[in-house]
Amino acid sequence: MIQDIAPWHLRNEFMNVAPRPGDLVLDMDREGVLSAGDGLRFPTVETWRTFGDDAALHYAFQIVRKDESCPEQPVEERFFLALRETGRQAPTPEGWRRAMPSTLRGESPGPLAYAAATGWHLFCWYDSTRCCGRCGEKLLFSETERAMICPRCGAVYYPRIAPCVIVAVTCGDRLLLTRYARPGAKNLVLVAGFVEAGETAEEAVHREVMEETGLKVKNLRYFGSQPWGFSGTLALGYVAELDGPDDIRLDTSELAEALWVDRSRIPPCPDSASLTMEMITRFSRGEL
Ligand SMILES: [Zn+2]
Repeated sequence: MIQDIAPWHLRNEFMNVAPRPGDLVLDMDREGVLSAGDGLRFPTVETWRTFGDDAALHYAFQIVRKDESCPEQPVEERFFLALRETGRQAPTPEGWRRAMPSTLRGESPGPLAYAAATGWHLFCWYDSTRCCGRCGEKLLFSETERAMICPRCGAVYYPRIAPCVIVAVTCGDRLLLTRYARPGAKNLVLVAGFVEAGETAEEAVHREVMEETGLKVKNLRYFGSQPWGFSGTLALGYVAELDGPDDIRLDTSELAEALWVDRSRIPPCPDSASLTMEMITRFSRGEL
């Protein structure tokens, strides 16, 4: 999955530090992240400064790899976000390009693609968290934690993460697969939906399966979780058994189709980046 970048590890503890030579810049705007024209490579701080941009660099996270020959001194790559005032256009220098982070996971999976996904989550939050929602004052960067603070009313804003559930509904050797009704949705996926205020993740599983397909489920098993920075979500994966009749009542506002597919007939997944695809693949192998 996208977060499986061993032997690298993403460390996101907040640090109030200035960039130093060799650190990498995640220069993002709504068109995507700035990357080398011939592959996935982010500019170093010193290269980025030659572009003549006056965006502010804010520490984001680091990706660390244990060096087997010298475990006390891990190899680390530090990433900084280039953040601009509202409405400021981000330049794309010659020889560089802008790519949506969601496309990079297929182009070049690994620690840099995961850094782009996580950077995108943070960028989108910073970009939409500029003014206080309570009093309208311009927010300031906290110097002690990853937060924005209001100097007038004291409100504190933390990065927004939306939990959602992904459910593999099984009935013996059959798995429930669905396809979204929205234009362009071509892959068969699992039932999924956001956790609502006031409910547990398990209650969200029961509700989403019922809403989308009219089916009841039982014997929930937690599979695992996945940060999905492209949409600012944290996916929680569950396996659930059908409880009762298998007749599907489709919610056509959300889904184009929902069908029971035998283990041996599950189509190959287009990639292994997402929790959904991981769970489908595991089921097809008899491992779920
Ligand atoms: Zn305020």
